[in-house]
Amino acid sequence: MIEPKATKESTERLYFEDAFLQEFTARIIRRETREGLPVVILDRTAFYPESGGQPYDLGTMNEVKVIRVEAENGFIIHYLEKQIEGDEVRGRIDWQRRFDHMQQHTGQHILSQAFYELIKGETLSFHLGQEDSTVEINLPAIEEETQRQVEELANRVVFSDLEVKTYFLPEDKAGSIPLRKPPKKSGLIRVVEVAGFDYSACGGTHCLRTGQVGLIKILKQEKIRGNLRFSFVCGFRALKEFENYRRLLQESAKIFSAEEAEVPSCAEKNLAELKNLKKNQRKLEEKLAVLEAKEMLAESGGNIISGLFPEKSPGEIKFLALNLVRQAEVVAVLAAFANEYFHLVVAASDKLEVDVREVIPALQATAEFKGGGSPTLIELVSSKKEQAERFCQLAADFFKAKINPG
Ligand SMILES: [Zn+2]
Repeated sequence: MIEPKATKESTERLYFEDAFLQEFTARIIRRETREGLPVVILDRTAFYPESGGQPYDLGTMNEVKVIRVEAENGFIIHYLEKQIEGDEVRGRIDWQRRFDHMQQHTGQHILSQAFYELIKGETLSFHLGQEDSTVEINLPAIEEETQRQVEELANRVVFSDLEVKTYFLPEDKAGSIPLRKPPKKSGLIRVVEVAGFDYSACGGTHCLRTGQVGLIKILKQEKIRGNLRFSFVCGFRALKEFENYRRLLQESAKIFSAEEAEVPSCAEKNLAELKNLKKNQRKLEEKLAVLEAKEMLAESGGNIISGLFPEKSPGEIKFLALNLVRQAEVVAVLAAFANEYFHLVVAASDKLEVDVREVIPALQATAEFKGGGSPTLIELVSSKKEQAERFCQLAADFFKAKINPG
């Protein structure tokens, strides 16, 4: 086996040989300050830098937090929270984070090959996210059933607990193995082989056996740039996802006082009932508005009907205003509240031949109002809720003077 060892021109990457190495000792060969943070370069490191879709490792160096790790011209750059003393360091990898990354990353190799083996779908890109990961596959569309078959093949590989081998090959020998994609780098190529199933050129960290990946679950597919992007989770993330779904379903079933399997039919039934109730409610509201308008007209002597209705919605006062102007030759100035806003509706009977929009400038002279409407109906909204009565009065007086001059 040929492996790149540390030279003065590079950092030895301990994770190439042992991806399960969690602690190591090394020597600082360079110190710098970048973006106001102390940065160290070691002769060797187990910290994985951001690369190939896999995020960087976190951890500590002599108990000081490592907050970012990058690769640069063969060297690995460690950003530290604060400066560390001495040149000998003990590095410790945040293992929970790294192992999670290895589960997702190794799962991606398996899933990508499953897509290729079953339907010749090639992986164009891979992104390992905080919640889930994605692969973009160069297929325009696939059936739900095909996706299920791909997922099943990937999990069959997991449950077969195949060995995941890594080795280096000179570029000219790369043709001797069936690489899924041609290598992006020249020179020495690092091959990651899921025994007999998948061969990839990759510099990332991986599980030692496919069984360590755990369940591979595709969560959704979406179209992007004419291709398909699949979101998926592996291992502990799949377990967490399953727990989320289970809890959601259990909570939903509790709301309906039903069995979990009955949740969809219960939801459907409830929606249908709600729709029916809303329809009936609208009919009743219409009848009520007619009666309410009649009552208001009987009580008021003049041709300006105004009022503030804190218990009504903006929709209800609009309906009431329309009923008032339909039943008599009046101008209706009605107001209501919705959340933090004050709503003003002004309507006028056609026969009065007034343009209710004329009141807008008068109102806007006192506060900011949004909205507008037709010559016979306007709806205005203002955040100056506390001045509601004043605005009502102002609008009512405006039309009183207009319709009853002198
Ligand atoms: Zn890889």
